[in-house]
Amino acid sequence: MATMTVARHNLSVSAAETIRVTMRQFDTRRGALWGDLLHFLARHDRAVFIMDSDRVLGRDEVAPGGVVPADVLEMPWRASSSDAVACLTSAGYLAGRPTVVRHDAAHDTYLDTGRAFEAVSVRKPFKVVTVAYRHGDGQPGHDWTLAGVLGVPAGTYVIASTGDVRMTIRAIGYTQQASVLSGPGVSRAQAECRTCGGRWRAKDGSWRFRPERLSDASWSYDAAEDHRDGTIACPAHACAGRVGFRIF
Ligand SMILES: [Zn+2]
Repeated sequence: MATMTVARHNLSVSAAETIRVTMRQFDTRRGALWGDLLHFLARHDRAVFIMDSDRVLGRDEVAPGGVVPADVLEMPWRASSSDAVACLTSAGYLAGRPTVVRHDAAHDTYLDTGRAFEAVSVRKPFKVVTVAYRHGDGQPGHDWTLAGVLGVPAGTYVIASTGDVRMTIRAIGYTQQASVLSGPGVSRAQAECRTCGGRWRAKDGSWRFRPERLSDASWSYDAAEDHRDGTIACPAHACAGRVGFRIF
């Protein structure tokens, strides 16, 4: 279970932690290959070439000023993730744009910030070769080396990120199956007092807790008092107990 914050004006669960838990179902070591690709693309000192997995790229084929072979795809310099996806899709390596598997906003859940899970489907494995061009003797691109090679297997890459407007990638997982995402729920809350046995529920990020027993009254987290160690003072009349929370 992800860490909860129970404080004045704040009843939330860490989106980053819910992502860590959810991503356990995927192969994150292989998933990191997609992150490596994005990292290569973002570098200003590398050219990135894409080709079939079994294609061996000769150093002379990417000589400065030369013509790139027809079966090798040169990525735009410092391509954004969406540019890269468009190029890889048109070359037949990807099935298309990433699909949003799940998106949760902070305002209608108990997350501390929004989160999203997107899936990119690689239908044909490919190889990534990066080339570093060095400047020598005042001549740009005087020398060059094949700096890195990366094999990206076919399958689905699930990209998990947090944020409300600007998203930050937190983890990338890999799976061979088009699996259904399972993980901790973030839109329902339960409050419980072990002293009086009261149990209350709220949902969709609301702070209005409704009782499970008819004899108990509703209350709002806005009016909660004495926040301590993930609990509040029990709002039930004449109860000196503590109420703890569970988000699910
Ligand atoms: Zn109580």
